[in-house]
Amino acid sequence: MILENTGNEIIRTILEVLVLSSGPIAIVPHSNPDGDAIGSAYGLGLVLKNAGKEVFIITPNDYPDFLAWLNGELEIINYLKRKNTAEAILKRCKVMFCVDFNEIGRADEMEKTIAAFQGTKILVDHHPDPTPFCDLMVSEPAYSSSAELVYDLVVALGLEGFICRKAAEALYTGIMTDTGSFSYSTSRPELYRVLSALVAFGIDTAAIHSLVYDNFSADRMRLMGFCLQQKMVVLPEFRTAYIFLSRDELKMFNFVPGDTEGFVNIPLSIRNIVFSALFIEKEHVVKASFRSKGSFPANAFAASHFNGGGHLNAAGGDDKDTLVNVVEKFTQLLPAYLHLLENADKK
Ligand code: 5GP
Ligand code: MN
Repeated sequence: MILENTGNEIIRTILEVLVLSSGPIAIVPHSNPDGDAIGSAYGLGLVLKNAGKEVFIITPNDYPDFLAWLNGELEIINYLKRKNTAEAILKRCKVMFCVDFNEIGRADEMEKTIAAFQGTKILVDHHPDPTPFCDLMVSEPAYSSSAELVYDLVVALGLEGFICRKAAEALYTGIMTDTGSFSYSTSRPELYRVLSALVAFGIDTAAIHSLVYDNFSADRMRLMGFCLQQKMVVLPEFRTAYIFLSRDELKMFNFVPGDTEGFVNIPLSIRNIVFSALFIEKEHVVKASFRSKGSFPANAFAASHFNGGGHLNAAGGDDKDTLVNVVEKFTQLLPAYLHLLENADKK
């Protein structure tokens, strides 16, 4: 099914809003944006720019270095660093797209600005159970990624002719990163139709993979080694493994945002492990990432205990307690989930 939750009425209204609105369009991804957040924002932005609109991507905070090659055609404004510029632009905007997040709190630094935005807000997202903070919602949880969804939305809006090669590269990047290089969330046959259409723009898929995944610093690689050697705890009886990192440890490896991206997935490649967690100590909070296999609901776990949410198999949240206490809390929660963990891979 294509856009199963988004009726013709919504598509027509979005088109009307786009046609009737003067002034620039803002596209806002979630805070700490990942490949899908930046890829879908950039792809959508370029299509709208090619269709004659003035477009600004405003990210709540910085975006990781491995996505830095996605720039040039569109200005990406870091709200945290250039608040006055961003606010001045937003005052001129009549339309704002919120991409790749389902609740306003995921915009962190920009939460109040989004809430106060006077124009039309349009959600484009694939996370389940969005809260209604936008005027128009394109919410499609069956999609692998927001980038895949952007492609189908662009087609539904009749803007397919405005997709250029760079937009196709951005959308491909979003799909690639949100599916772990096509290893999960890839069972919908329609995904391959979208990929096929994107590849037809002449994009170099191997080069994109290399730009994103062969772009790590030696420090990041050593941090990964340290994590696996010294900071990964495996609990076979709970089919669970977790990694935890303090601020001092991050400092030892000259941590920059994005460095721990992907670490949480690694323990899932241990035989019999179906649940993995990564705890990172930030200034006033511990950020938690969860990944699972099969039916184990990482999102329900994150929502119930870590003030978070996400997808069934990829979720996150946070906790204001100390790192030691958060890890302790996590391990003490596991017995209550033993049944779900034991049966995660049963159909
Ligand atoms: P990551 O572990 O890569 O930061 O996040 C994985 C997924 O978990 C995200 O795509 C998002 O759906 C969800 N997620 C991460 N952190 C939070 C959070 O603090 N709150 C909510 N609601 N979801 C989160
Ligand atoms: Mn996504």
